[in-house]
Amino acid sequence: SDPAKGAGRFMLKLSGEAFAGGGGLGVDPDVVHAIAREIAAVVRDGAQIAIVLGGGNFFRGAELQQRGMDRARSDYMGMLGTVMNCLALQDFLEKEGIDSRVQTAITMGQVAEPYIPLRAVRHLEKGRVVIFGAGMGMPYFSTDTTAAQRALEIDAEALLMGKNGVDGVYDSDPKTHPGAVKFDALEYSEVIARDLRVADMTAITLCQDNKLPILVFELLTEGNIARAVKGEKIGTLVSD
Ligand code: UDP
Repeated sequence: SDPAKGAGRFMLKLSGEAFAGGGGLGVDPDVVHAIAREIAAVVRDGAQIAIVLGGGNFFRGAELQQRGMDRARSDYMGMLGTVMNCLALQDFLEKEGIDSRVQTAITMGQVAEPYIPLRAVRHLEKGRVVIFGAGMGMPYFSTDTTAAQRALEIDAEALLMGKNGVDGVYDSDPKTHPGAVKFDALEYSEVIARDLRVADMTAITLCQDNKLPILVFELLTEGNIARAVKGEKIGTLVSD
C-alpha cells in the first residue's frame, strides 16, 4: 500500500453528537450522508476504514445515572443507541456505492453481524467498511475505549477521532475560553498529566501502552477525513 495515497488501515471514531446535526438528539440524515460521502471518497482511494460510532445523540449512561437510573442498564441503553447510528451510516454508505458491514458487541442477528475480529479484517481487505456498534458490549466503558481496543485488534495504524465543533485539543475549552491555545502535537503523558479531554483516560492509557497514535480533528469540515487519512497536518496528533 502507498501511504502517500492515503492507503492503509484506519480506525475512525465518530461521536454520536455529530450525527444529530443542529438538533442535538437523534439522527440528521443530511449530516450522516455528508459524512458517508467523505468516507466513501477515502475508501475509493484505497484506504481501509473501520468505524466506531458513539451514541451521545441518544443516551449517555452516566447522564441517565445522574437522573436516578441504574448505571449498567443506562449504559446498555447507551450502547443500543450507537447501533441506530451504525444503521444510518451503513445506509448512506450503500447509497454512495460502498459496501459495509455492521458488527455489534451485543448480538442482534437481524440487523448486524456479531463482533468477529478476523471476519472484520477480511471485510476490510475486500474494501468493505466495517462499522462497530454497541461499544464493547460492557457497561462502564466508552466508545472511545472501544475504538482504541478495536483499532489495536484489527491492527489499524492510527485512531482518527472526528470531533464535533472543535478542531483539535486545546489547553482549555475553546468554547468558554477565548484565549485557549491549540496543540499541534501532544504526548500521551501530557494528555494524562494535564487531564486534557482527548478521550476518556481508559482509552488514552490503552493507546499509550500500545503506541497507537491518535489524531483529533474536526469531523464536519469538508475533506477532513481524507486529510486525516493522508496524514496531513490537521488537528492534534497524540503520540509518544
Ligand atoms: N457505552 C457503554 N459501554 C461501551 C460503550 C458505550 O456502556 O463499551 C454506553 C455508555 O453509557 C455511553 C453510551 O454508551 O455513555 C454512548 O457512548 P459514548 O458516550 O461513548 O458516545 P459519544 O459520546 O462518543 O457519542
